Amino acid sequence: MTTTFYIPPEMFRDGWVVLPPDEAHHAVRVLRHRPGDEVVAVDGEGGWYRLRLEQVDRQTVGARVLETRRDHGEPPYHLTVGLALLKQSARFETFLEKAVELGVQCILPLQTERTERVQFRLERAQRILVAALKQCGRSRLPRVLPPQTFTEAIRKPAALRLLCHEQPDAASLPLGQLLCGQRMPNALVLIGPEGGFSGSEVRQALAAGFQLVSLGPRRLRAETAALVAASAFSLYWEAQRSPTRSYHAQKHYTNP
Ligand code: SAM
Repeated sequence: MTTTFYIPPEMFRDGWVVLPPDEAHHAVRVLRHRPGDEVVAVDGEGGWYRLRLEQVDRQTVGARVLETRRDHGEPPYHLTVGLALLKQSARFETFLEKAVELGVQCILPLQTERTERVQFRLERAQRILVAALKQCGRSRLPRVLPPQTFTEAIRKPAALRLLCHEQPDAASLPLGQLLCGQRMPNALVLIGPEGGFSGSEVRQALAAGFQLVSLGPRRLRAETAALVAASAFSLYWEAQRSPTRSYHAQKHYTNP
């Protein structure tokens, strides 16, 4: 598997890039790369690069850009998932990592009436996102916002605004059914904490124009619900891609 390096866009200049110290160390000391080796880098802002290492010494690893792509591995929609902060931060962090793999662009930690955790370690979250970005090979690093209250979150504009609700409710639509035929350029999906959303929060969301959605007949853990919702979007769009444009054709697509 080709290792993917994370190099911020400002480090690329005129087809040449010097790897940041931590990435240079990983390339030389851990992966034992030599001049002439080819590697892949992403810049977290939609840039994907095929590089050839040309300068490899104790202090510096420099590479020539051989190929660039834009938005490699990115879905054609913008999905923000608002997930309530969870009692066990490890569960929220599992969601962070999987959200990157599933093409989520923005993560919004929620403080709701029944949220029992308030603190959130943003720097740790960023490290998890970067590691997942490198592993899955997409090119845009999702944004993780500072925690917001439910009232703030339901003010966020989006073409499609959904609240995942596990209570059997006449107003809930199955998410898979709701996505069919949707041309949503951007969507916001909210998932509650272990104790769920309060009745008042559900009413506020409905009054703000949210659609209640069901993820099936079982009561899912919050982080599972968030992953099921993100997967539904990802799989729906995969199914929409023109069958002639197979993954491999797209994978080797290079800018003209
Ligand atoms: N309050 C619920 C209870 O105790 O019966 C459980 C809440 S569940 C652990 C956490 C969140 O996951 C919910 O607020 C909802 O957003 C989402 N969720 C879980 N299962 C779901 C389902 N089958 N359909 C839609 N959303 C679901």
